[in-house]
Amino acid sequence: MKNKSISIPMGMVTKKFYCHKCGARLDKHSKTRTVSPGDPDYRKHNRINHRTHMIGDVEVTEYDFQCPSCGNIVEYDEQRVIKKIQMQLHKNTLSEEEILNNKGKAEETMDRNAKVFKVIFVTIALAVIGFIFYSKIKSGDFSFTFYF
Ligand SMILES: [Zn+2]
Repeated sequence: MKNKSISIPMGMVTKKFYCHKCGARLDKHSKTRTVSPGDPDYRKHNRINHRTHMIGDVEVTEYDFQCPSCGNIVEYDEQRVIKKIQMQLHKNTLSEEEILNNKGKAEETMDRNAKVFKVIFVTIALAVIGFIFYSKIKSGDFSFTFYF
C-alpha cells in the first residue's frame, strides 16, 4: 500500500482568488511528488497524528493556483499577498511593478492581522478553558492531581 499525504491550505477552499495577469478566477492546481525518508521535509509529511508516523516513501499532493484563462501558475503564499494588493488597489489586474511596490506593505498588514487573530484566538481559548474548569468545580465532578 502506498502512503499518501494531501495538504491544502484552509483559505484555498474558503476564499476566491483572481489572476493578477488577466483577472480570471483561479482554479486549484494539484502537484504530486514523492518524499523519501531522509528528505528535508519528510517529517512534515509522514505524520499521521502526534504519535504515529508513516514508514517509507510518501506520495505528497500539494496545491497551488492555475489560471484557466492564461495558464499563469502561482503558489498559495504568493497569491495571498497578491490578493491583499488587489484589495488595497481595488482592482484585479496588476502589473509586476505594482506587485513589487506594494508587496512589503501587504505583507506587513497580513503579519499584523495574523497577530491580532492569534491574540483573539488565545483569549477565546482561555475563556473556554476557564469556563470548563469553573463549571466542573461548581458541579463537584472535579479532581485535580499534581504528581511528579
Ligand atoms: Zn490569467
